[in-house]
Amino acid sequence: MNLRIPGPTPCPPDVLAAVAQPMINHRGPEFANVLTTASEGLKWVFGTSSEVFTLTASGTGGLEAAIVNVLSPGDPVLSISIGSFGERFANIAKSYGANVDTYSVEWGKAADPTEVAARLESNPNYKAILVTHNETSTGVTNPLKEIAEVAKPYDCLVIVDAVSSLSSIPCPVEEWGLDVVISGSQKGWMSPPGLAFVWLSEKAWLANESATMPRFYFDLARAKNSLEKGQTPWTPALSVFFALEHAFGLMREEGLESIYERHRKAGELTRSIAIKNGLELFADNDYASNTVTAIKWPENVDGKKISSLARDKFNVVIGGGQAKLQGKIFRIGHLGHFELKEIEDAVLTVVNLLENSTEG
Ligand SMILES: *Cc1c(COP(=O)(O)O)cnc(C)c1O
Repeated sequence: MNLRIPGPTPCPPDVLAAVAQPMINHRGPEFANVLTTASEGLKWVFGTSSEVFTLTASGTGGLEAAIVNVLSPGDPVLSISIGSFGERFANIAKSYGANVDTYSVEWGKAADPTEVAARLESNPNYKAILVTHNETSTGVTNPLKEIAEVAKPYDCLVIVDAVSSLSSIPCPVEEWGLDVVISGSQKGWMSPPGLAFVWLSEKAWLANESATMPRFYFDLARAKNSLEKGQTPWTPALSVFFALEHAFGLMREEGLESIYERHRKAGELTRSIAIKNGLELFADNDYASNTVTAIKWPENVDGKKISSLARDKFNVVIGGGQAKLQGKIFRIGHLGHFELKEIEDAVLTVVNLLENSTEG
Protein backbone atom coordinates (compact mmCIF):
# COMPACT_ATOMS: atom_id res chain seq x y z
CA MET A 1 0.00 0.00 0.00
CA ASN A 2 1.40 3.40 -1.02
CA LEU A 3 -0.21 5.53 1.70
CA ARG A 4 0.13 9.11 0.47
CA ILE A 5 -2.20 11.00 2.79
CA PRO A 6 -0.64 13.72 4.96
CA GLY A 7 -0.90 11.62 8.09
CA PRO A 8 -1.04 9.02 9.40
CA THR A 9 2.10 8.38 7.36
CA PRO A 10 3.83 5.05 6.69
CA CYS A 11 6.17 3.82 9.43
CA PRO A 12 9.50 2.12 8.68
CA PRO A 13 9.39 -1.67 9.30
CA ASP A 14 11.69 -1.44 12.36
CA VAL A 15 9.43 1.17 13.90
CA LEU A 16 6.46 -1.15 13.43
CA ALA A 17 8.44 -3.98 14.99
CA ALA A 18 9.17 -1.74 17.99
CA VAL A 19 5.42 -1.31 18.48
CA ALA A 20 5.13 -5.06 19.11
CA GLN A 21 7.34 -4.94 22.23
CA PRO A 22 5.84 -6.23 25.50
CA MET A 23 4.21 -3.78 27.91
CA ILE A 24 6.32 -2.36 30.74
CA ASN A 25 5.66 -0.66 34.07
CA HIS A 26 5.01 2.98 33.22
CA ARG A 27 5.97 3.89 36.82
CA GLY A 28 9.30 2.08 36.70
CA PRO A 29 12.84 2.73 35.42
CA GLU A 30 12.03 0.86 32.17
CA PHE A 31 9.69 3.61 31.05
CA ALA A 32 11.88 6.38 32.46
CA ASN A 33 14.56 5.28 29.98
CA VAL A 34 12.15 5.35 27.05
CA LEU A 35 10.85 8.75 28.11
CA THR A 36 14.39 10.13 28.38
CA THR A 37 15.24 8.99 24.84
CA ALA A 38 12.02 10.53 23.52
CA SER A 39 12.56 13.79 25.42
CA GLU A 40 16.14 14.16 24.25
CA GLY A 41 15.05 13.49 20.67
CA LEU A 42 12.25 16.02 20.90
CA LYS A 43 14.53 18.74 22.30
CA TRP A 44 16.95 18.09 19.45
CA VAL A 45 14.28 18.42 16.74
CA PHE A 46 12.45 21.36 18.37
CA GLY A 47 15.77 23.17 18.82
CA THR A 48 15.44 23.80 22.54
CA SER A 49 17.23 23.04 25.77
CA SER A 50 14.01 22.99 27.80
CA GLU A 51 11.50 20.16 28.06
CA VAL A 52 9.03 19.13 25.38
CA PHE A 53 5.99 17.33 26.81
CA THR A 54 4.54 14.22 25.28
CA LEU A 55 0.80 13.77 25.72
CA THR A 56 -1.21 10.71 24.84
CA ALA A 57 -3.55 12.32 22.32
CA SER A 58 -3.76 13.13 18.63
CA GLY A 59 -2.46 16.49 17.46
CA THR A 60 -5.73 18.22 18.30
CA GLY A 61 -5.23 17.25 21.94
CA GLY A 62 -1.89 19.03 21.74
CA LEU A 63 -3.60 22.14 20.34
CA GLU A 64 -6.14 22.05 23.15
CA ALA A 65 -3.37 21.64 25.73
CA ALA A 66 -1.58 24.66 24.27
CA ILE A 67 -4.65 26.88 24.58
CA VAL A 68 -5.86 25.87 28.04
CA ASN A 69 -2.45 26.06 29.70
CA VAL A 70 -1.58 29.65 28.85
CA LEU A 71 -4.90 31.50 28.38
CA SER A 72 -7.85 32.60 30.48
CA PRO A 73 -11.50 33.00 29.44
CA GLY A 74 -12.00 36.44 27.91
CA ASP A 75 -8.41 36.82 26.76
CA PRO A 76 -8.15 38.66 23.45
CA VAL A 77 -6.54 36.41 20.86
CA LEU A 78 -5.67 36.89 17.20
CA SER A 79 -6.19 33.79 15.10
CA ILE A 80 -4.32 33.70 11.82
CA SER A 81 -6.29 31.28 9.71
CA ILE A 82 -5.29 30.12 6.24
CA GLY A 83 -7.30 26.90 6.10
CA SER A 84 -9.21 24.23 7.91
CA PHE A 85 -6.63 23.58 10.66
CA GLY A 86 -6.39 27.31 11.35
CA GLU A 87 -10.16 27.32 11.85
CA ARG A 88 -9.92 24.37 14.21
CA PHE A 89 -7.29 26.13 16.34
CA ALA A 90 -9.52 29.22 16.61
CA ASN A 91 -12.53 27.06 17.48
CA ILE A 92 -10.68 25.41 20.36
CA ALA A 93 -9.80 28.85 21.77
CA LYS A 94 -13.43 30.00 21.35
CA SER A 95 -14.73 26.84 23.03
CA TYR A 96 -12.75 27.74 26.14
CA GLY A 97 -13.99 31.32 26.15
CA ALA A 98 -11.15 33.23 24.52
CA ASN A 99 -12.16 36.42 22.74
CA VAL A 100 -10.99 35.50 19.25
CA ASP A 101 -10.45 37.91 16.36
CA THR A 102 -9.64 36.26 13.08
CA TYR A 103 -7.29 37.28 10.32
CA SER A 104 -8.59 35.00 7.56
CA VAL A 105 -6.60 34.49 4.42
CA GLU A 106 -7.98 33.13 1.17
CA TRP A 107 -7.35 29.37 1.13
CA GLY A 108 -4.26 28.54 -0.91
CA LYS A 109 -2.44 31.68 0.18
CA ALA A 110 -0.11 32.32 3.10
CA ALA A 111 -0.56 34.90 5.85
CA ASP A 112 1.14 38.25 5.28
CA PRO A 113 3.48 39.26 8.15
CA THR A 114 2.85 42.95 7.34
CA GLU A 115 -0.88 42.42 7.87
CA VAL A 116 -0.18 40.60 11.15
CA ALA A 117 1.98 43.55 12.23
CA ALA A 118 -0.84 45.98 11.37
CA ARG A 119 -3.38 43.98 13.38
CA LEU A 120 -1.05 43.84 16.39
CA GLU A 121 -0.38 47.57 16.05
CA SER A 122 -4.10 48.35 16.13
CA ASN A 123 -4.75 46.02 19.06
CA PRO A 124 -1.61 45.77 21.19
CA ASN A 125 -3.51 43.93 23.94
CA TYR A 126 -3.67 40.53 22.29
CA LYS A 127 -2.60 37.87 24.75
CA ALA A 128 -1.68 35.50 21.96
CA ILE A 129 -1.61 34.91 18.24
CA LEU A 130 -2.53 31.46 16.96
CA VAL A 131 -0.79 30.44 13.78
CA THR A 132 -0.58 27.27 11.71
CA HIS A 133 2.97 26.71 10.49
CA ASN A 134 2.02 24.31 7.73
CA GLU A 135 -1.65 24.31 6.68
CA THR A 136 -2.19 20.67 5.75
CA SER A 137 -5.61 21.33 4.20
CA THR A 138 -4.27 23.69 1.53
CA GLY A 139 -0.61 22.68 1.21
CA VAL A 140 0.68 26.08 2.28
CA THR A 141 3.56 26.85 4.65
CA ASN A 142 3.26 30.18 6.43
CA PRO A 143 6.29 32.49 6.75
CA LEU A 144 6.41 31.65 10.45
CA LYS A 145 9.81 33.13 11.19
CA GLU A 146 8.69 36.50 9.80
CA ILE A 147 5.34 36.34 11.60
CA ALA A 148 7.09 35.63 14.91
CA GLU A 149 9.47 38.49 14.16
CA VAL A 150 6.69 41.10 13.82
CA ALA A 151 5.13 39.84 17.07
CA LYS A 152 8.34 40.42 19.05
CA PRO A 153 7.69 44.03 20.12
CA TYR A 154 4.37 42.95 21.65
CA ASP A 155 3.62 41.06 24.81
CA CYS A 156 1.60 38.41 22.99
CA LEU A 157 2.45 34.73 22.96
CA VAL A 158 3.12 33.11 19.60
CA ILE A 159 1.24 29.80 19.69
CA VAL A 160 2.08 27.57 16.76
CA ASP A 161 0.41 24.51 15.28
CA ALA A 162 3.47 22.76 13.86
CA VAL A 163 1.76 19.37 13.66
CA SER A 164 2.58 18.76 9.98
CA SER A 165 5.85 20.68 9.81
CA LEU A 166 8.08 19.98 12.79
CA SER A 167 10.67 17.27 12.04
CA SER A 168 10.13 17.67 8.28
CA ILE A 169 10.76 21.35 7.63
CA PRO A 170 12.84 23.66 9.85
CA CYS A 171 11.06 25.12 12.88
CA PRO A 172 13.69 25.99 15.49
CA VAL A 173 11.42 27.13 18.31
CA GLU A 174 13.94 29.09 20.38
CA GLU A 175 15.78 30.69 17.48
CA TRP A 176 12.50 31.95 15.99
CA GLY A 177 11.18 33.24 19.32
CA LEU A 178 8.06 31.04 19.44
CA ASP A 179 6.17 30.47 22.70
CA VAL A 180 4.00 27.38 22.45
CA VAL A 181 4.62 24.82 19.74
CA ILE A 182 2.69 21.62 19.06
CA SER A 183 3.36 18.59 16.88
CA GLY A 184 1.97 15.06 16.48
CA SER A 185 3.54 11.61 16.13
CA GLN A 186 1.69 10.46 12.99
CA LYS A 187 2.90 13.24 10.69
CA GLY A 188 6.63 13.73 10.14
CA TRP A 189 7.86 11.61 13.04
CA MET A 190 7.68 8.21 11.29
CA SER A 191 5.51 6.91 14.12
CA PRO A 192 1.89 5.81 14.54
CA PRO A 193 -0.83 8.21 15.77
CA GLY A 194 -1.31 8.64 19.50
CA LEU A 195 1.23 11.12 20.84
CA ALA A 196 1.18 14.92 20.78
CA PHE A 197 4.20 17.06 21.63
CA VAL A 198 3.96 20.45 23.30
CA TRP A 199 6.72 22.90 24.12
CA LEU A 200 6.40 26.11 26.17
CA SER A 201 8.88 28.99 26.28
CA GLU A 202 9.80 30.62 29.60
CA LYS A 203 7.35 33.40 28.78
CA ALA A 204 4.62 30.81 28.19
CA TRP A 205 5.37 29.14 31.54
CA LEU A 206 4.97 32.53 33.20
CA ALA A 207 1.61 32.90 31.47
CA ASN A 208 0.72 29.43 32.73
CA GLU A 209 0.95 30.63 36.34
CA SER A 210 -1.99 32.98 35.90
CA ALA A 211 -3.94 31.16 33.15
CA THR A 212 -7.37 30.06 34.37
CA MET A 213 -8.91 28.07 31.54
CA PRO A 214 -10.16 24.74 32.94
CA ARG A 215 -7.86 21.76 32.45
CA PHE A 216 -7.23 18.40 33.98
CA TYR A 217 -5.95 15.68 31.63
CA PHE A 218 -3.93 18.24 29.67
CA ASP A 219 -2.55 20.14 32.68
CA LEU A 220 1.07 20.75 31.69
CA ALA A 221 2.10 21.72 35.22
CA ARG A 222 1.27 18.13 36.19
CA ALA A 223 3.17 16.87 33.14
CA LYS A 224 6.17 18.92 34.26
CA ASN A 225 6.09 17.46 37.78
CA SER A 226 5.77 13.94 36.44
CA LEU A 227 8.55 14.36 33.89
CA GLU A 228 10.96 15.22 36.68
CA LYS A 229 10.27 11.72 38.02
CA GLY A 230 10.63 10.11 34.58
CA GLN A 231 6.89 9.65 34.23
CA THR A 232 3.75 11.03 32.62
CA PRO A 233 0.74 11.96 34.78
CA TRP A 234 -1.50 9.36 33.15
CA THR A 235 -0.90 6.01 31.46
CA PRO A 236 1.04 6.78 28.28
CA ALA A 237 0.51 5.09 24.89
CA LEU A 238 3.53 2.87 25.54
CA SER A 239 3.54 1.25 22.11
CA VAL A 240 3.74 4.59 20.36
CA PHE A 241 6.56 5.61 22.71
CA PHE A 242 8.44 2.44 21.65
CA ALA A 243 7.94 3.44 18.02
CA LEU A 244 9.10 6.99 18.65
CA GLU A 245 12.18 5.80 20.52
CA HIS A 246 13.14 3.79 17.47
CA ALA A 247 12.23 6.57 15.03
CA PHE A 248 14.63 8.93 16.80
CA GLY A 249 17.43 6.42 16.17
CA LEU A 250 16.65 6.59 12.44
CA MET A 251 16.33 10.39 12.48
CA ARG A 252 19.68 10.81 14.19
CA GLU A 253 21.28 8.49 11.65
CA GLU A 254 19.90 10.55 8.78
CA GLY A 255 20.53 13.94 10.41
CA LEU A 256 18.17 16.91 10.53
CA GLU A 257 19.63 18.72 7.54
CA SER A 258 19.32 15.62 5.35
CA ILE A 259 15.75 15.09 6.51
CA TYR A 260 14.87 18.68 5.58
CA GLU A 261 16.62 18.27 2.24
CA ARG A 262 14.69 15.07 1.50
CA HIS A 263 11.41 16.89 2.16
CA ARG A 264 12.47 19.85 -0.02
CA LYS A 265 13.20 17.43 -2.85
CA ALA A 266 9.87 15.66 -2.36
CA GLY A 267 7.98 18.96 -2.50
CA GLU A 268 9.80 20.06 -5.64
CA LEU A 269 9.37 16.68 -7.31
CA THR A 270 5.64 16.50 -6.59
CA ARG A 271 5.02 20.01 -7.87
CA SER A 272 7.11 19.54 -10.98
CA ILE A 273 5.46 16.23 -11.97
CA ALA A 274 2.02 17.77 -11.48
CA ILE A 275 2.83 20.84 -13.56
CA LYS A 276 4.61 18.84 -16.27
CA ASN A 277 1.43 16.80 -16.67
CA GLY A 278 -0.84 19.79 -17.02
CA LEU A 279 -2.22 19.82 -13.49
CA GLU A 280 -2.67 23.00 -11.51
CA LEU A 281 -1.37 23.44 -7.97
CA PHE A 282 -3.73 24.83 -5.36
CA ALA A 283 -1.16 26.62 -3.21
CA ASP A 284 0.59 29.88 -3.94
CA ASN A 285 3.90 28.68 -5.38
CA ASP A 286 6.03 30.93 -3.16
CA TYR A 287 4.60 29.24 -0.06
CA ALA A 288 4.02 25.71 -1.35
CA SER A 289 4.51 23.13 1.38
CA ASN A 290 7.28 20.57 1.33
CA THR A 291 5.26 18.09 3.40
CA VAL A 292 1.96 18.04 1.48
CA THR A 293 0.99 19.13 -2.03
CA ALA A 294 -2.56 20.15 -2.90
CA ILE A 295 -3.44 19.66 -6.57
CA LYS A 296 -6.62 20.83 -8.29
CA TRP A 297 -8.82 18.24 -9.95
CA PRO A 298 -9.27 19.31 -13.57
CA GLU A 299 -12.73 20.67 -14.50
CA ASN A 300 -15.48 18.06 -14.87
CA VAL A 301 -13.48 15.27 -13.31
CA ASP A 302 -15.01 13.02 -10.67
CA GLY A 303 -12.15 13.18 -8.17
CA LYS A 304 -13.78 10.72 -5.82
CA LYS A 305 -13.91 8.12 -8.58
CA ILE A 306 -10.27 8.66 -9.54
CA SER A 307 -9.22 8.35 -5.88
CA SER A 308 -11.15 5.09 -5.52
CA LEU A 309 -9.58 3.69 -8.69
CA ALA A 310 -6.10 4.67 -7.49
CA ARG A 311 -6.76 2.84 -4.23
CA ASP A 312 -8.55 -0.25 -5.58
CA LYS A 313 -6.50 -0.85 -8.72
CA PHE A 314 -3.07 0.49 -7.81
CA ASN A 315 -2.90 0.48 -3.99
CA VAL A 316 -2.22 4.20 -4.00
CA VAL A 317 -4.09 6.11 -1.29
CA ILE A 318 -4.26 9.88 -1.74
CA GLY A 319 -5.84 12.55 0.44
CA GLY A 320 -9.01 14.42 -0.53
CA GLY A 321 -9.97 18.04 -0.01
CA GLN A 322 -11.28 19.11 3.38
CA ALA A 323 -14.37 21.24 4.07
CA LYS A 324 -15.01 23.57 1.12
CA LEU A 325 -12.20 21.97 -0.87
CA GLN A 326 -13.97 18.59 -0.99
CA GLY A 327 -14.04 17.36 -4.60
CA LYS A 328 -11.93 20.34 -5.72
CA ILE A 329 -8.43 19.16 -4.84
CA PHE A 330 -6.48 16.07 -3.91
CA ARG A 331 -3.48 16.00 -1.64
CA ILE A 332 -0.26 14.05 -1.75
CA GLY A 333 1.50 13.64 1.58
CA HIS A 334 5.29 13.53 1.42
CA LEU A 335 6.40 13.64 5.01
CA GLY A 336 8.04 11.32 7.47
CA HIS A 337 9.30 8.06 6.01
CA PHE A 338 9.22 7.82 2.21
CA GLU A 339 11.26 7.19 -0.91
CA LEU A 340 11.03 9.76 -3.70
CA LYS A 341 10.03 6.91 -6.02
CA GLU A 342 6.87 6.30 -3.98
CA ILE A 343 5.86 9.94 -4.30
CA GLU A 344 6.50 9.92 -8.03
CA ASP A 345 4.51 6.68 -8.46
CA ALA A 346 1.54 8.11 -6.58
CA VAL A 347 1.34 11.30 -8.66
CA LEU A 348 1.84 9.43 -11.93
CA THR A 349 -0.89 6.95 -10.99
CA VAL A 350 -3.35 9.82 -10.68
CA VAL A 351 -2.06 11.40 -13.90
CA ASN A 352 -2.57 8.14 -15.81
CA LEU A 353 -6.04 7.60 -14.40
CA LEU A 354 -6.97 11.14 -15.41
CA GLU A 355 -5.69 10.60 -18.95
CA ASN A 356 -7.64 7.35 -19.27
CA SER A 357 -10.79 8.91 -17.89
CA THR A 358 -10.78 11.74 -20.48
CA GLU A 359 -10.08 9.29 -23.28
CA GLY A 360 -13.41 7.91 -22.43
C1 LIG B 1 -2.96 16.58 11.47
C2 LIG B 1 -2.99 17.98 11.92
C3 LIG B 1 -3.52 18.35 13.16
C4 LIG B 1 -4.02 17.39 14.18
O1 LIG B 1 -4.91 16.46 13.75
P1 LIG B 1 -5.21 15.15 14.63
O2 LIG B 1 -6.10 14.36 13.74
O3 LIG B 1 -5.85 15.58 15.88
O4 LIG B 1 -3.88 14.50 14.89
C5 LIG B 1 -3.49 19.68 13.52
N1 LIG B 1 -2.97 20.60 12.72
C6 LIG B 1 -2.43 20.29 11.52
C7 LIG B 1 -1.84 21.38 10.70
C8 LIG B 1 -2.43 18.98 11.09
O5 LIG B 1 -1.89 18.65 9.90
